Amino acid sequence: MNWISNYVRPRINSLFSRREVPENLWTKCPECGTMLFHRELSDNLNVCTNCDHHLAITPRERFRSMFDGGAFVEVKVPEPVADPLQFRDQKKYPDRMKSAQKSTGEKEAMLVAEGEMGRTPVIAAAQDFSFMGGSMGMYVGNAIIAAAERAVKLKRPLILFSAAGGARMQEGILSLMQMPRTTVAVEMLREAGLPYIVVLTHPTTGGVTASYAMLGDIQIAEPNALICFAGPRVIEQTIREKLPEGFQRAEYLLEHGMLDRVTHRKNMRDELVSILRMLGGLPAPTKADLPAPVDPPAIEAQPETAPEPDAQASKPA
Ligand SMILES: [Zn+2]
Repeated sequence: MNWISNYVRPRINSLFSRREVPENLWTKCPECGTMLFHRELSDNLNVCTNCDHHLAITPRERFRSMFDGGAFVEVKVPEPVADPLQFRDQKKYPDRMKSAQKSTGEKEAMLVAEGEMGRTPVIAAAQDFSFMGGSMGMYVGNAIIAAAERAVKLKRPLILFSAAGGARMQEGILSLMQMPRTTVAVEMLREAGLPYIVVLTHPTTGGVTASYAMLGDIQIAEPNALICFAGPRVIEQTIREKLPEGFQRAEYLLEHGMLDRVTHRKNMRDELVSILRMLGGLPAPTKADLPAPVDPPAIEAQPETAPEPDAQASKPA
C-alpha cells in the first residue's frame, strides 16, 4: 500500500492537479523587490508591507474593501457591438477579449456597482488595468454612462477609480468617441447637482486623462500613480531633455495644482466618505462599524447614553 500511496498517488496528483496549486503565492514588489505572501498582501489592500508601494488591485477586490461589509450590487451595463472593425493585429480582437476574460474572470475593463460606504449611498465605477490595459472601448463608455444615469436616477454621488493605458486600439475611432460620450455623462451629474469624485490609480494615461478621469469635482490620486496624457518616455524622446524627478507622478501633480489630494489606499474609504458627506450636507460619518453577525450576543447591559459626543450621527432618523 505504501508504494501506491507514497509513489503512485503523488505522481498521478502531480499530473492532474498541477493547475490547482497557485503559482502566485508570492508576489515580488516591483518597487523594493520584497517577496510578499499573497494573503498578507491582499489583507493589506495590495500595498507592499515593506515600502508602501501600491500594487494594482482589481475592481472587485477594491469594491469589497470599500463598500460596507463588502456588499454591493452590480449595475448592468448595456452590451456594445462586438468587434465592429473586424480588427486583427497578431491576434484577432475577439480572441484577445476571450483571453482577457479568462485571465481576469471579468467581462470587460470596467465594473459598476451600487451600495453604501460608511452608510452613505453611492455609485462606484472602477477600471481594471489587468483587462487589456484597462483600455477605454465602447463598453467602458457604456459603463460610465450607465453609472452616471444610475447616479442621477437614485440621486447618489458617483466615485470613479480610473486605471488605463488609454483608448482601445482595436475599436479605432469608436474608442475615441467615448471621450465626448463620457464627458456628456459627467455633465449629466453636474446638471443634477451630484458630486463626481475621481480616484486616479496607477497608471491613468492617454485618452482617459483627456476625458472623464480629469473632470471630477474632487480629484484624488493614490501615491506615486503615473498620471499623464503622453508618457514620460515619449516626451523625453520628443523634446530630447531629461525630465525632472517624479514627473507626472501623483505627488508632482499635487504640487503643481493638478490634484486635490494624494491618499494612501488604507485611508481612501474614510476620506471618500468624509468628502461625500460634507458635499451632501450630511452629518459627519460614524467611524464605528456595525457589530459582526458572528459575534456572540453581549451579556452585560449596554449604557443608555452613547459616550461619544458626536453620537447624533448614529441616531435613527
Ligand atoms: Zn515594496
